[in-house]
Amino acid sequence: MQNHLRLLTPGPTAIPDRVRLAMAMPMIHHRKPEFKTIMEETRVYLKKLFGTKQEVLPLASSGTGAMTAAVTNLFTRGEKVLVTQAGKFGERWKQIALSQGLEVIEIAKTWGQAIQASDIEEALQQDKAIKGVLIQICETSTGVMHPIHEIAKVTQKYHVLLVADGISSVGISPAPLDEWGIDALLTGSQKGLMVPAGLSLLAFSEKAWKKTEQVEPSCFYFNLKAELKNVLKNQTNFSSPVSLIIGLREALTMIFENGTLDDLYQKHFALSQMTRAGIKAMGLEPFARNHYAWGLTSVAMPKGVNASDLVSLAAKKTGVVIAAGQEPMKDEMIRLAHMGHIDFGDMLAGLYAVASSLPHKPQGFKDSYMSIAMQAYENAPAYPKTAII
Ligand SMILES: *Cc1c(COP(=O)(O)O)cnc(C)c1O
Repeated sequence: MQNHLRLLTPGPTAIPDRVRLAMAMPMIHHRKPEFKTIMEETRVYLKKLFGTKQEVLPLASSGTGAMTAAVTNLFTRGEKVLVTQAGKFGERWKQIALSQGLEVIEIAKTWGQAIQASDIEEALQQDKAIKGVLIQICETSTGVMHPIHEIAKVTQKYHVLLVADGISSVGISPAPLDEWGIDALLTGSQKGLMVPAGLSLLAFSEKAWKKTEQVEPSCFYFNLKAELKNVLKNQTNFSSPVSLIIGLREALTMIFENGTLDDLYQKHFALSQMTRAGIKAMGLEPFARNHYAWGLTSVAMPKGVNASDLVSLAAKKTGVVIAAGQEPMKDEMIRLAHMGHIDFGDMLAGLYAVASSLPHKPQGFKDSYMSIAMQAYENAPAYPKTAII
C-alpha cells in the first residue's frame, strides 16, 4: 500500500498547499507595480522575522549563496576571520573564506558539541587581528545549536563582526538581529520557510553595512550595496525569482496569521521535546546531548545499525523521508527534521518510521514510545528566550 510521502529532512521541507497554489499564479514582471506591492509586503514580514529595522535582502541563490555574499561583501582579501570546526557547515564557512583569500583561524570541537562563548572570547583575546566570526546558529550536520545570544555579547565586546548562518534556525528558533547584536544573519527558503530552494535572505546590522563601505565586493553577482538600493525600491538588482518571492510572501502571511513568532518558536521547541522523548523511549540516544537544535533531532545509531540502510528502509516501508548523517558520520546518525510546515502528527509518523525500520529493538525499547512522545509534546515547558539549552 502506498503511503503519503512525508519529508522529514532538514531541507527541503514540505510546501503548504497555499504556498504551492500562490506560486502557480501566472508570471508577472519584476519591474512592474504588481510585483513591487508583493515585495513591499514581503519586506515588512521579513524585518519582523529577522528582528531588525534593517532591510532583509532576497537573493536568487540557495543558502550557500547568501553565505558567499556575506563573506565577499564584508571582508577583504588577507583579512582574518574565525571559523568553527564542529560540523559540515562550519567547514563550509572555512571553504568560502579561503576561496576569497581570507586568513582563517579555527576553533575545533568534537562533532555533537557546541562552541561556547568562552571559546570565542579566548580566540579573540589571543588574536586581535580577527575581524569576523563566521558560525552556524544550528549546525545541521550534528543537530547542535550554538549559543549565539552569548557569542554575540563577546563579538560586540571585541568589536568583531558576527556572521550567523541561520539556514536551519530562522523561523524555527529565535535570533533577533537587532536585540542580540548579530551583524549578519542569513537563511535559505527551503528549511524553516516552507518554500522551494532557490531563494536566500540576508540582513546586515548598521555596523556591518559600515564595514561594506571599505570593501570592494570580489564577486560581480552578489553586490549587496546594489541590492540594498534596489530593495528600497521593492526591486532586486537582477531578474527577481518572482515565483519564489510570491511563495515566500504566502508562507510569511501564514506564519503571522497563525500567531506570533513566539507561537512559532514554541511549536518547534515542543516538537524537539517530543522527538527527543520518543527517541529515548526507543532506547536510542540523541546525538546532540544538550545544546540541541529545535528544527531537527539527530540520533546516534547503536552498534550494528547502519543509518543509510535504516533511512532507505523507512522511506520504502512508511513513505517517511528522513536523513542519514553527513560525511564522515554518514552511517552513524539519522536526522529527523521538524522545521517548517510540520506538526506532531508528522513526528509520530517519523518516530514510527524509525521504530519499525530498526533491525532489532535496542535495549530499553518501550512499546509506549508514541504516548511518551505525546506527553513530552503536551508538557513542553516555555521555550528559553535566549535559545540556550
Ligand atoms: C542547508 C544548510 C546549508 C546549505 O544551504 P543550501 O541552501 O543547500 O546552499 C548551510 N548551512 C546550514 C546550517 C544548513 O542547514
